[in-house]
Amino acid sequence: MPDAELTAPTVENVRVVVRVRPMDQREKLEGSPNCVSVDPVNNTVAVTRNNVTPPEPPRIYAYDAVYDSNTSQMDIYVQTASPIVEEVLRGYNGTIFAYGQTGTGKTYTMAGANSAPELRGIIPNSFAHIFSHIAKANDDEKFLVCVTYLEIYNEEVRDLLGNNPHQSLEVKERPDIGVFVKDLTGYVVHNADELEKIMAVGNKNRHIGATAMNTESSRSHAIFSITVESSKRGSDGKVHVKMGKLHLVDLAGSERQSKTQATGTRLKEATKINQSLSVLGNVISALVDGKSTHIPYRNSKLTRLLQDSLGGNSKTVMIATIGPAETNYVETISTLRYANRAKNIENKTHVNNEPGDALLTRFQQEIDQLKKQLEDTANDIEEDEEECEKSEEELSDDTLTEPEMDNLDPEEKKTRRKMRREEKEKLNREKAHQARKVLEEKKAELQRTKKQQEELKEKLQRLESKVLVGGENLLDKADTQRRLLEQAASELEQRRLNELRLQQDLQKKEVSVGIRFKNYKIIN
Ligand code: ADP
Ligand code: MG
Repeated sequence: MPDAELTAPTVENVRVVVRVRPMDQREKLEGSPNCVSVDPVNNTVAVTRNNVTPPEPPRIYAYDAVYDSNTSQMDIYVQTASPIVEEVLRGYNGTIFAYGQTGTGKTYTMAGANSAPELRGIIPNSFAHIFSHIAKANDDEKFLVCVTYLEIYNEEVRDLLGNNPHQSLEVKERPDIGVFVKDLTGYVVHNADELEKIMAVGNKNRHIGATAMNTESSRSHAIFSITVESSKRGSDGKVHVKMGKLHLVDLAGSERQSKTQATGTRLKEATKINQSLSVLGNVISALVDGKSTHIPYRNSKLTRLLQDSLGGNSKTVMIATIGPAETNYVETISTLRYANRAKNIENKTHVNNEPGDALLTRFQQEIDQLKKQLEDTANDIEEDEEECEKSEEELSDDTLTEPEMDNLDPEEKKTRRKMRREEKEKLNREKAHQARKVLEEKKAELQRTKKQQEELKEKLQRLESKVLVGGENLLDKADTQRRLLEQAASELEQRRLNELRLQQDLQKKEVSVGIRFKNYKIIN
């Protein structure tokens, strides 16, 4: 039986965190002052404009967590992404968004750098996380991991894993499975390495598309989706399937078009490119103002595809990325305000039990059917082989019984025998010919059945290889990534314990100061 506690929907807000990237070389050379400071204790970001008269007070915004420019990729993963991936592995939907101006670290946060394992971003770390979970699961649990990778540019959806990345795909809706992209390529993956290779293919296609259209990938939205299905026999003896879907979203740059100096058709095009982003803003506003009865999800491809992520069935975290330089003051404030509003979005989440579109169920049914077919063909083969053997034996044993000829004279007997022999030989030849023909047909049939059996076996193997069994040895190159993650998680736990101890010490000191103070008062 599905766990009752997990079937009940939970209401929770979208989590919003802010990450500040370090000053880059150009900003340093330009001598742009730093206008951002992060307070990790109170989870606030303060933005102060220097050299303004009259001086302005800092603008302060609060979030669920804030990360300064020294925060490592591993810490970001362990603190913001890992809890969402854990929930996806339990059968919830999850979404991790990166939102911010171009050049503030969205792609660095989501994909990261390839140069060193510790510089890798959320996407490759989530691969290592998912497959390490499967490798540690019990062998009574089965898994299926499937990925898609798409891009939305100019309100057109393109398949980054398909044969033609230039082709625009349709967004459709079905009552049983909701919104989906028609003909989007889904890959079943077996380990983290394979998943990385697939992501690299998609990234290359994203780049090719962008170059061909003389645009930049920063103007498109990329959605990498990983579906993790798992099945296990419950206490009721039946097999239950759960499905968690993780969307990893690298949004287009949020800068206003005026800054890119686009005019005429370029401006019109740019407006359309950012239609998804402005509708996303409208959706957020409508969700949080408490008055709107209509949420304009259908006004853009992005919001249609991510309907569940905002105000629906998904555990969602938005990572707002900002730069520290004062030259970007306006954009930074705009990102911080946008992100601040998103904090108030309420989602209703539940475990996706027995989903109608689970591949695991379909594959398992096909596997069972193939096994049954294989059994039948094995029986057929056995029967055919027996029949062939019998026919062959019969063919070699071609004696015909001689009728009684005892009461005939020897001459007559001789003639009769000769006739009989000739007759018999003729008959035998015909019979043998006929029998051989039947035997040949039977043998051909046997060959066909054997070929069919081989095909069935191959198909079964292909299907079975898609399904991963808990505890399977999936260790590969991504093992380094997994070890780094585990190390980062234990370091974080250590830091948390230290902080707790410090806090307790502080409280003890406060209490003792209070006691002394009380004593003092009593004495006087
Ligand atoms: P975006 O995707 O938002 O346009 P990028 O992720 O491409 O921005 O980042 C722009 C540049 O800044 C890249 O060279 C990237 O390596 C660097 N960068 C971004 N964030 C960080 C960070 N937290 N630490 C170090 N370098 C960063
Ligand atoms: Mg980018």
